[in-house]
Amino acid sequence: MDTIVARRIKIPWRRAVLSVDQFSKPDITDIFGTADRLAVSRTMPLGGKTIANLFYEPSTRTSSSFYAAMTKLGGNVIPINEVNYSSVSKGETLEDTVRTLECYADAIVLRHYDDDATERAFSVSSVPIINAGNGAGEHPTQALLDLYTIQREHGRIDGLTITMMGDLKYGRTVHSLSKLLRLYDVKLQFVAPDELRLPQEYRGDGDTEYSDLDDVIANTDILYVTRVQKERIPGAIDIDFNYAVTPEHMARARDDMALLHPMPRVGEISASLDSDPRSAYFRQMRYGLYVRMALLVAMLGGA
Ligand code: ASP
Repeated sequence: MDTIVARRIKIPWRRAVLSVDQFSKPDITDIFGTADRLAVSRTMPLGGKTIANLFYEPSTRTSSSFYAAMTKLGGNVIPINEVNYSSVSKGETLEDTVRTLECYADAIVLRHYDDDATERAFSVSSVPIINAGNGAGEHPTQALLDLYTIQREHGRIDGLTITMMGDLKYGRTVHSLSKLLRLYDVKLQFVAPDELRLPQEYRGDGDTEYSDLDDVIANTDILYVTRVQKERIPGAIDIDFNYAVTPEHMARARDDMALLHPMPRVGEISASLDSDPRSAYFRQMRYGLYVRMALLVAMLGGA
C-alpha cells in the first residue's frame, strides 16, 4: 500500500472526504440508511451552517446537488462555480483561496483539475474538505451515489456482475467506484480500448477485460457507462472507440439490468433509450441528492 493511501485511510471521512479508501462497509450501510430516511422525511438539521462550493472545473450535477442538499437541510451555500470571477483569476493560490473560505464556511466542496488538489487543500484547511473530483484521480461522492443507485435498483450489491465501459483510464468516477465495489462480493468486467484501460492500481483479481460490449451485455446486471474524458487526454490522440449502447444491446440485456452513467453523456447512450425502464441515469441523479444530504448531515453534525 503506498503511503498516501495509508495516510488517507487514517483520516476519518467525517473530517474530510478525500478518497473512497476512507469508507468501510458499515460506514456505507450507515450513510445509505440516512439517505433512505432523508429521501422520505425532511428535517433541517443544518440551519446556521454554510458550505462553500469551490469548482475549478465545470459541473452541473455535483455542484447543484450539493447546493440543493445543503439548502434542503436548512443550510447555506457560497457558490464559487466559476473561479475565473474570483481572485483565482488574479493569481491567488488554491491554498489561499481555501484559507479564505474556511473563514466563512463549515466545509468546502472542492473540484479541481489537479490530482493532488484535495490533498493540498486538506493540508491547509481547518474545515472539512469534500473531494468533488480531483483531476483524473477520484470522485468519491459520485461513487457513493453510484453504489446507492445499484442498491436501490437491485435491492442488493453482493452477487452482481457489474460491467464498466468507456474511458476507464481517465474517468475518476470509475476509479472510485471500482475501489468501493471491492468491499462487496461482485464480479467486475471492463470494456475499453487498449488506450483507455483501467490503470493497474485499480485492478483486482478475477476482473475480466473486453473490447466489445457484445461479449458481456447478456450476463451484466449493472452497465456503468462513461464518456471519453477528452479534456484529460494528453495531446490530440484519436481513439477509435465506438461504444454507444444501442437498442440491440438492450434487447439482449437482462430484463432487470440497470443502465447507469455519471453524466454528462456525449453519444454513449442515445436519448431513445431514456424511456427504457432499465435506464437508471436520471434516477441516479436523484439518489445522489439523498446521498449528499446524508454525507453533509454526518459531517456537519446534524441531529
Ligand atoms: N461528471 C463526472 C465527473 O466529473 C463524469 C464526467 O465528467 O464524465 O467526473
